[in-house]
Amino acid sequence: MKKAALHNLGCKVNAYELDAMQQQLEAAGYEIVPFAPGADLYLINTCTVTNIADRKSRQMLHRAKKMNPDALVIAAGCYAQVKGADLQKDDVIDIVLGNDRKSDLIRVLQDFEARRAAAADPADRNRADESTSADRIGADESTSADRIGVDAIPSADRNGADTNTSVDRTWEAESGGGILSWTDISKVKEYEELKISHVDTHTRAFIKVQDGCNQFCSYCIIPFARGRVRSRKPEDVLAEVRDLAHAGCREVVLSGIHLSSYGVDFQKGRSADVSAENLSEEPASAAENLSEEPSSAAEVTNLLELIRLVSRVEGIERIRLGSLEPGIITEEFAAALASIQKVCPHFHLSLQSGCDRTLKRMNRRYTAAEYREKCRILRKYFEDPALTTDVITGFPGETEEDFLASRDFVEEIHFFETHVFPYSRRAGTRAASFPDQLTEQVKKERSRVLLELDATRRREYLEKFLHKKIEILVEETMEIDGRDFWVGYTKEYQRAAIPRTGEEDLQNQLVWLETEEILEGNVLFGNIL
Ligand code: SF4
Repeated sequence: MKKAALHNLGCKVNAYELDAMQQQLEAAGYEIVPFAPGADLYLINTCTVTNIADRKSRQMLHRAKKMNPDALVIAAGCYAQVKGADLQKDDVIDIVLGNDRKSDLIRVLQDFEARRAAAADPADRNRADESTSADRIGADESTSADRIGVDAIPSADRNGADTNTSVDRTWEAESGGGILSWTDISKVKEYEELKISHVDTHTRAFIKVQDGCNQFCSYCIIPFARGRVRSRKPEDVLAEVRDLAHAGCREVVLSGIHLSSYGVDFQKGRSADVSAENLSEEPASAAENLSEEPSSAAEVTNLLELIRLVSRVEGIERIRLGSLEPGIITEEFAAALASIQKVCPHFHLSLQSGCDRTLKRMNRRYTAAEYREKCRILRKYFEDPALTTDVITGFPGETEEDFLASRDFVEEIHFFETHVFPYSRRAGTRAASFPDQLTEQVKKERSRVLLELDATRRREYLEKFLHKKIEILVEETMEIDGRDFWVGYTKEYQRAAIPRTGEEDLQNQLVWLETEEILEGNVLFGNIL
């Protein structure tokens, strides 16, 4: 049995996609092994959100080849999408798999193996040509022979992308050549269906429901790596959630690259022009049709309706939401969410800056005052929800005064958690050419200030749960300070531990406890009620 080792970089959406690729490999007969020497295949799901992510992606690809020079190395994901042409020149990489090609993993692998066998035995060359052309999705005979050449022509239009924007070609290299399987992601209109049927923890599963972003914030490379908004068919989301519930999963986290835009492409129709110019407006409000319960998946047109649909799946006790844009929060939306018992009072609202001048140059579509109002609304409908956010420090032209305005705003909102990112200059984005780029030293110092504030706020929020009765969903066992515990999370995503005594199995159980103290690592401690 061939052995495959996988490694993920980047966000939860990437992690979901890696899980889906892992399950494709398992179904094709691969044994999944740790990312260590000894594998036959190494798959790295790369990330390009910052320069550091690029560097780590390259490092992992090279580390893989060092671990086994004879192994096949696959670069998938966002860095592979944006830098596919460069990676093709890197001898350590055998296959480059762009975004929107992850569902093709096994077919591309088979193509690669056939080609490698043909290279080893030229007599097999014709047979390889035949088998790979037959496997190719949507291929026609007239293009199959070209595909095996160095400069093969684009493959047929698999996903409704314009002809000449999809490339599935091989290249020659010292190692015997490789395959670039790639699509011009800006032209892709259909969501690429990937699927997971189980998760290792059996408790909580991230479900990808949306891809792409139409917002083009001036600092962000993601629209170039992920393309425009594509929403997953609600019936496919529902089928996956049901499978996971059947496998024992009790909590789902609905995730996407720009989750708030879920359904925008449904409303526009799938044949609509999805160019950046035509889709640069705010996401359609998910608060539309608030009073209408979707009676079937076919009626779902926005995020709220999707949440309602998922909430009806038996066995799923909790629904958590991935990152939301402030624009989606209205009185109606929050009220409707609060009426769905399974929705967790844990909301990640991207802020990026608390200074209006910076927000404007970031091309964020709200002011600090509007953001404050969104937090007020959430706090009106949910009792002390966990609000989390992202903030960028050292955006080009951010003065000391701008930074202090941002810092003061973060302090005022009382986030439970603030993820702090020093600005990373991404080639191809508008902000990369802005004047007044700041030094790494300034970004680092401003990040330090926000991280310090974050540590204080986390503790303050956690302390609100002391000496209270709370419910946790138990996920795992853990040793803290030499003692054994069952550990789980509250709906607000606070970690809590109960002593592990005897042989009881609390894994995946909802348990009430009364909290008594806070252990090392900001873990609430209490005894089971
Ligand atoms: S909303 Fe802005 S920051 Fe978020 S993925 Fe889209 S472009 Fe990037």
